[in-house]
Amino acid sequence: MREQLAKLRELQEIDLQKDEFETAKKELQGHLDENKGFLQKLVDDLETQKSELDEIKALRSQKQTDLRDIQEQHSKRRKRLTQVGSTKEYNAVEKEIEVLKKSVEQTEEELLHLAEVIEATQASTSEKEEKINQLRESIEAEETASHTQMKEIMKGIETLQKREDDARDTVSKRVLYKYDFIRSRRDGQALVAAKDGHCEGCFMALPAQLYIEVQRGEALVTCPSCQRILYFWEDEADNQAEQAAAEA
Ligand SMILES: [Zn+2]
Repeated sequence: MREQLAKLRELQEIDLQKDEFETAKKELQGHLDENKGFLQKLVDDLETQKSELDEIKALRSQKQTDLRDIQEQHSKRRKRLTQVGSTKEYNAVEKEIEVLKKSVEQTEEELLHLAEVIEATQASTSEKEEKINQLRESIEAEETASHTQMKEIMKGIETLQKREDDARDTVSKRVLYKYDFIRSRRDGQALVAAKDGHCEGCFMALPAQLYIEVQRGEALVTCPSCQRILYFWEDEADNQAEQAAAEA
């Protein structure tokens, strides 16, 4: 079992590295998606504003037609004023002219206001268009950079996958099953050291008999508190010392 545990430690190290790559991959993708979502929102806003602008412009053109009509009526009435026979009719036409004049003034004022609104809306849409273009460019640049990063991540994952497959071949199915089960429930960490009588995963003190069993390394022992598989910390220390000696 001691050997199996050593293999498991190796496997876990590979798996944890792989987890890091997977997290980096997710973060990268998430960031890109977020940027794209933001861009899409701006594009939608712009479309809404543009259709509003079209409506205002249509309203202005209607008002311009109205103004011409009123002005025409106004000048007709003024002409009429020079041709009327009675004072009564003169007064009536004069009143009409007064009403039309007011209507001309009011429509002109409305047109002025509409021109201001159109100008402000156009300024705002051009500003948005510029922002969209800038964002699009920066997203493209970021995507290119991300693509390179993503390639490296995928390459890293692939390499680790091969190492993982090799490591898995050296561990028994029963132990692997347990390892995978605990890993899925303990945030990727299925295996922890037992040191100075306690579990290094949850820091609970281990029953003395259990700690002795871990030291012996003859059976698969799990922590009663966090359920992780336990190995004796000195086994790892020995291993590292051996590795260091081999590398030196
Ligand atoms: Zn524990």
